[in-house]
Amino acid sequence: MDFSYSTAELDFREEVRDWINKNIPGDFGSPAWPRPEDPKKYMEVTFGWMKKLYESRWTGIDWPKEYGGRSASPIEQFIFMEEMADHITPSPFHTIGVGMAGPTIMAHGTEAQKQRYLPKILSGEEIWCQGFSEPNAGSDLAALKTTCRDGGDFYVVNGQKIWTSVAHLAQFCILVTRADSTGSKHAGMNYLIVDMRTPGVEVRPLVQITGDPEFNEVFFSDVKVPKENLLGGEGNGWMVAITTLMHERMNIAALLYGRIKRTLHDVVELTKQIKRHGRYLCEDPVIRHKLAYYAANVETQRLNNLRMRAHASGGTDPGPIGSVFKLIWCKSNMDLLEMAVDILGPYAELMPGSDGHHTLADEWMRHWLRSRANSIEGGTTEILKNITGERVLGLPR
Ligand SMILES: Cc1cc2nc3c(=O)[nH]c(=O)nc-3n(C[C@H](O)[C@H](O)[C@H](O)COP(=O)(O)OP(=O)(O)OC[C@H]3O[C@@H](n4cnc5c(N)ncnc54)[C@H](O)[C@@H]3O)c2cc1C
Repeated sequence: MDFSYSTAELDFREEVRDWINKNIPGDFGSPAWPRPEDPKKYMEVTFGWMKKLYESRWTGIDWPKEYGGRSASPIEQFIFMEEMADHITPSPFHTIGVGMAGPTIMAHGTEAQKQRYLPKILSGEEIWCQGFSEPNAGSDLAALKTTCRDGGDFYVVNGQKIWTSVAHLAQFCILVTRADSTGSKHAGMNYLIVDMRTPGVEVRPLVQITGDPEFNEVFFSDVKVPKENLLGGEGNGWMVAITTLMHERMNIAALLYGRIKRTLHDVVELTKQIKRHGRYLCEDPVIRHKLAYYAANVETQRLNNLRMRAHASGGTDPGPIGSVFKLIWCKSNMDLLEMAVDILGPYAELMPGSDGHHTLADEWMRHWLRSRANSIEGGTTEILKNITGERVLGLPR
């Protein structure tokens, strides 16, 4: 397989680099682009960044041109993420809308749904969340119990979702519900678009180990959802949900690769700044060995991304490559961040305001704590190992 970029792809990369050089003043959080402490100001900066990307047509570049995208190929989408990864930028809040809800609406929505929702997803004016997981339905999503009863012109939804990222900011939710429990567990589901401002929707933020309330519990009590908000037809919720998850896997792979590429770069820089026994850590053979291992590992993640995207561009199913990618990414991301915290030693534990506290160490600690979620989010490590065992290695179920 040839992993080099075509002339057109190299031209595309130049266009991306040119835009980045003109529009990114420096890393977000550096003196050139300070990160506001005040949460309200932080939101403003993030929304401002989302607007800038949108106005320059760098949001949803894989969306068809008719819906405001660039009709970029999966490889171009990857190139964009790879180039952006060289810079720290605010994390947009509309990742679920652009990467999952939008493509699902394009695949299964009516013309009216496309016209209503797609433009504001792309512009970031409306934020979306994903209401799939429940307290007793995560890996086994089809076990979900949130009910959807026919109420005439509308559905009545009752139940609870959990781990719902950005629900506290979202105007809309893609919600998978159970309309009929008499058949097989994959049948009888309805996939709904729910306005989060509807009476009966209650969002309760959950504060994580990092101190950030990134995700939420969402409760639905007799929530009336207009029938025109059904996506993909009665009882077809499972099929529609699979579309969402396929887009999640593809988009997440580019995003995660971008992040680990940057993390590796930053850990290398850290080893150039910290001395032990009179020499910089980057000169220590044990540290060098570890860094070389991670560099090779990150490169396999780049190649797995390209492999998956080559299949998608050629119209063939990438199969389990995305699962293998996530499995390798998760382990190396968690280990790499642990290495950074080890390097910092006791400094990593100093809280803001204490003697010797350094904001750099603070950030590393936050990233390391956040990485605990890596083996759970977007498919747990055990489930991915099962998929790899069965579908790649041909082991029995
Ligand atoms: C940061 C973060 C953000 C998230 N955001 C969202 C979101 O926005 N929307 C949303 O819907 N969900 C979201 N999730 C939920 C996520 O998709 C689920 O946590 C995940 O699918 C696992 O489900 P669960 O937590 O119910 O664990 P369970 O499925 O109950 O699993 C518990 C443990 O059992 C293991 N296990 C389960 N089944 C098997 C099996 N067959 N074989 C071997 N081991 C097994 C699992 O690996 C795990 O270790 C998020 C999760 C995290 C961590």
